[in-house]
Amino acid sequence: MDYIEMSPFLVAWNNAMILGSIIMVAAGIVIYLLHNIKVSSIAEYHLKYDYINAKEIKTYKLVFYCFGVAVTLAINLYGMHEMKQVEVWFFTRLFMSIAGGTLVAYVSYLVLEYYYPTKLDKKLKRYRLAPRINPKTGNKMRLLSEEEEDVHLDEGMIAEENVFSIDYDVWIDEKTGDVKIEKYQGRLQALKCNTCGFYTMRVTKEEVVKMPSGTEPGELIKHYQCSYCKSVRATAFNISTKEAEDYKKEKFKFRQNKDVDLVKVEIHTISGNKKHYEFQNLEEAQKFLNEFDSGKS
Ligand SMILES: [Zn+2]
Repeated sequence: MDYIEMSPFLVAWNNAMILGSIIMVAAGIVIYLLHNIKVSSIAEYHLKYDYINAKEIKTYKLVFYCFGVAVTLAINLYGMHEMKQVEVWFFTRLFMSIAGGTLVAYVSYLVLEYYYPTKLDKKLKRYRLAPRINPKTGNKMRLLSEEEEDVHLDEGMIAEENVFSIDYDVWIDEKTGDVKIEKYQGRLQALKCNTCGFYTMRVTKEEVVKMPSGTEPGELIKHYQCSYCKSVRATAFNISTKEAEDYKKEKFKFRQNKDVDLVKVEIHTISGNKKHYEFQNLEEAQKFLNEFDSGKS
């Protein structure tokens, strides 16, 4: 059998595939490392939370898309030493490589879109609820509970169509009365969907039902939709106009059992009926149980 030289095009093609896949794997690793270096360089939990919330899933998707391209390029090297000329196998392999790369990208997209947010939510809560330290005294601060359910309006953000509310976390140094307010964009947060269980529930619209006036709190309704199962939810919130100074004057009521995310109550009556109730925290569940009257409801 005669020795056949590989066509110059295929030599160049193979080299491009080898180099390209190495570059894409390296790019993925570099993007991953840069993200994590950036995260660990942010000292303040609040800013860490915002950064991770805004960037982590997008960045990891990009990492896996790089790997997807690398897989596409690498599959094009399969059987490279046997092929001397561009033939049918070249195009078959090209097609298979695109399918393989797409599969890698698509599977990672699904994992990051639906599975990963559950893990991310735990990580974010850790940063959001970790005790803050008062920089002036070094004392541990505590998170106020009554502000959890209230939202604030940021001036200048009140557009005609879209109102974006702000969640305030109020931290108090019990010894000195120092107050630290951390603001979060509630609409950027993914909540757990009670229908499908994924953390894919996001605010789609917010409307002010009642504007806050000097002393009276206002009311705002947040409309949510799950991007997976499309179920919708609407919840009313009080709009507070309190600022840092106002918190100092008040009696503190701190958040208890902050690890509790959801309380489910199932009530069985003697007639065999079952009823399910869900609460955001133990206090609400307790209040409900105190007022519960099986005859009425
Ligand atoms: Zn859902």
